[in-house]
Amino acid sequence: MTEREYNKDNVFYKIINKEINSNLVLEGKHFIAINDISPKAPVHVLIIPKGNYIDYADFVMNATDEEIIDFNKGIATIVEQMKLLPGGYKLLSNSGLFGQQEVPHMHVHILGKSSN
Ligand code: AMP
Repeated sequence: MTEREYNKDNVFYKIINKEINSNLVLEGKHFIAINDISPKAPVHVLIIPKGNYIDYADFVMNATDEEIIDFNKGIATIVEQMKLLPGGYKLLSNSGLFGQQEVPHMHVHILGKSSN
């Protein structure tokens, strides 16, 4: 894969480093999960690794196994915590121009509706 450079001048880097406030849903050793500022579903959470990864492929290729496991268990914890089952949910990770990625720091959108 072509070498790409992570750019720290992005909003999620600033949120992780507490330079900007966010609406925190859950924090793990290697991730934070926040409510999306412009929700596209009744539940719209962004789960974001704390490490500097550009997108999904960069994360999976370059993060440690511990980071990858912690991140994925974080998704499952949010699904449980937000009661997204049995109603259902979707996961989405945009990358690059074609993917219309706005924020160049890896994140996964969790979209669903709580069964509360
Ligand atoms: P994308 O990079 O296209 O996958 O999407 C970036 C997402 O980040 C969008 O859904 C935005 O609404 C969201 N977003 C941008 N700034 C913030 C912020 N300060 N707090 C929470 N969500 C944000």
